[in-house]
Amino acid sequence: MKIAGYLKTSLIEWPGKICSVIFTPGCNFRCPFCHNRDLVLGQGVSQIPEKQILADLKRREKWIDAVAITGGEPTLQAGLLKFLKLLKSLKLLTMIQTNGTKPGVIEQLVISKLVDYFCLDLKGDLQNYEKFCNIKYHIPEEFPGGNISNVKSSMELIIRGGVEYEFRTTVVPGLHNLENLEKLAVQINEVFENCKLKISESLISPLKAAQIENSRWFLQQFSPLNTLDRRYLKVKPYSKEEMEAFQKQLQKIIPQTLLRGV
Ligand code: SF4
Repeated sequence: MKIAGYLKTSLIEWPGKICSVIFTPGCNFRCPFCHNRDLVLGQGVSQIPEKQILADLKRREKWIDAVAITGGEPTLQAGLLKFLKLLKSLKLLTMIQTNGTKPGVIEQLVISKLVDYFCLDLKGDLQNYEKFCNIKYHIPEEFPGGNISNVKSSMELIIRGGVEYEFRTTVVPGLHNLENLEKLAVQINEVFENCKLKISESLISPLKAAQIENSRWFLQQFSPLNTLDRRYLKVKPYSKEEMEAFQKQLQKIIPQTLLRGV
């Protein structure tokens, strides 16, 4: 697996867990507000050998609980499953942060039980996704229409996967407003309801059913740093009060709407 960054210790990635964070290069989205510009474009990033990271994790395995793999987009990495198996052999918990465009990979991860926590980034209201992830202009050949159904499939796979998960959306002035966040909340709810229906038909365990009821959606504060589109460096994030006002309205649709980074 290609690795372009390694943070030895983070206390914020997975609340309650001491985590190491691995960054993979490249992404199939071009979200203008993305703050991993160099990683996404592969500019000025060098590769770190897997062996070096695994040796370091082994040395510190008593002091860390988990490894988060983020990007860029980790599900684009051919060696992801193999690498996760190596992490599991060190008895570490694993987290994947993904944009959900590769449901085939998500399915493999769910079936293999190599991931303990999924974070799925939802960029904005699903009917206008191109506006948020900016892919039509940049790499149309990757997404010959219908890519949003991929994101929806990943949502379903994760909800029904039986491990801890969260959905999250970075809230950016100029792109997100109450109206399109409400649309997204309704769309997320539709996927929840669809999953509940399928689950009730398939005699799922009470644990999984409870997990669906506990679906969490984090509204994340935007940070105007190192953005992919330089114009977003000048965008002033929503205030704490504005974020709280969004949360209050959106909790009417998804009760577990939470704030992060405000
Ligand atoms: S924010 Fe968008 S462009 Fe940046 S890594 Fe995530 S999906 Fe890719």
